[in-house]
Amino acid sequence: MLILNDEHRQRAGIGSLSKRCQYCSKAEASYPLILSDDARLAVYHAACAAALATEILVDLYTFFRPPAPYHPLSVLTASQTASPQCAVEPFRQQE
Ligand SMILES: [Zn+2]
Repeated sequence: MLILNDEHRQRAGIGSLSKRCQYCSKAEASYPLILSDDARLAVYHAACAAALATEILVDLYTFFRPPAPYHPLSVLTASQTASPQCAVEPFRQQE
């Protein structure tokens, strides 16, 4: 949730700007802020939320497409059956 002003902050259940950003540990101090949708109501500076999201994307990309000389260990594929579960299958490199 994007928090742009005091009204947004109060409706989100954040009492004041005195809390610290979960990413950089500095005081929130000013808007815009990002409130995560997890149960612990973590609040981030907007730039810190973007940096965290970028790190997650880079980690995911590196996991699925590691740089040489590393090779992917596995990929997630839908099961061949009608089961809603996913199966982890060995990755076969195409040559
Ligand atoms: Zn921050």
